[in-house]
Amino acid sequence: MKSLLFSRFLLLLPWVLIVIIVLDIDSSRAPLPALAPRGGGGGGGSGSGGARPAAGRAAAPRRPEAALPTIYAITPTYSRPVQKAELTRLANTFRQVARLHWILVEDAAARSDLVSRFVAGAGLPCTHLHVPTPRRYKRPGLPRATEQRNAGLAWLRQRHQHLPPPQPGVLFFADDDNTYSLELFQEMRTTRKVSVWPVGLVGGRRYERPVVENGKVVGWYTGWRADRPFAIDMAGFAVSLQVILSHPKAVFKRRGSQPGMQESDFLKQITTVEELEPKANNCTKVLVWHTRTEKVNLANEPKYHLDTVSIEV
Ligand code: UDP
Ligand code: MN
Repeated sequence: MKSLLFSRFLLLLPWVLIVIIVLDIDSSRAPLPALAPRGGGGGGGSGSGGARPAAGRAAAPRRPEAALPTIYAITPTYSRPVQKAELTRLANTFRQVARLHWILVEDAAARSDLVSRFVAGAGLPCTHLHVPTPRRYKRPGLPRATEQRNAGLAWLRQRHQHLPPPQPGVLFFADDDNTYSLELFQEMRTTRKVSVWPVGLVGGRRYERPVVENGKVVGWYTGWRADRPFAIDMAGFAVSLQVILSHPKAVFKRRGSQPGMQESDFLKQITTVEELEPKANNCTKVLVWHTRTEKVNLANEPKYHLDTVSIEV
């Protein structure tokens, strides 16, 4: 009787072992929920650009960040009581834009401590340059920030001259006092040569915009000097890195440049009106505003004793 039981046990044993092994293989194939937080993510790691909030990008199709053209934003800036406040607002916007490289150009003979400290803590890729505007050009009515924008262009060209097939990139000029929506960066990122869009609160009107017919720019809606070849504000266009590199001599001019003609003088060197790519729903949406910050009232500053500590504002 005992030997019968034993022989049955031996007969069943391999089958029991097979069932256990099959069950084990099956369970090890099951997903590991705790270790797989990203659904559908590809194998490559994400960029090293640090944590970026995903706000405003939820609906966009997910592209790996590495495939996006870099946006280079050239910002001229100069010392004044509101400077740090302006730069703070700008950095808060730029920090939410993927693959944005900030080229901050101080209108100064040397890098200031304030801007250097600010850049160090800004939390986004930033190149800090400086060039002073010659005194003779610091007069009302004369174009501002010519030398600073040219310094940004020179840096960009120098950086890419040793990289034969240039990385895809888009350049735009971001004054430190304007207001930029995040949607604007999505629009400009697809610039092939030169793209344009409306600008709010400029030219003595609620907005200026390129007039578009059948997908092409055919004129300008503006309140000021409609005879300009490109009646557009500095905040109203972007240029591909390719175009910047293939027109190495294109710069902002001092000599021969009339007030308000900086944009036209520059754009004439690199494109034609026919070639412009309208963005922002055929130039019917305002995504950037030419805001200007009120001059601060510091009338009481000299009237009283200064604070005992020195505080950066
Ligand atoms: N800017 C500068 N140096 C100056 C005046 C202005 O670098 O002496 C910068 C300023 O910080 C801004 C840009 O040039 O980023 C355009 O200046 P502003 O905003 O005063 O011009 P507007 O609003 O009249 O176009
Ligand atoms: Mn301004």
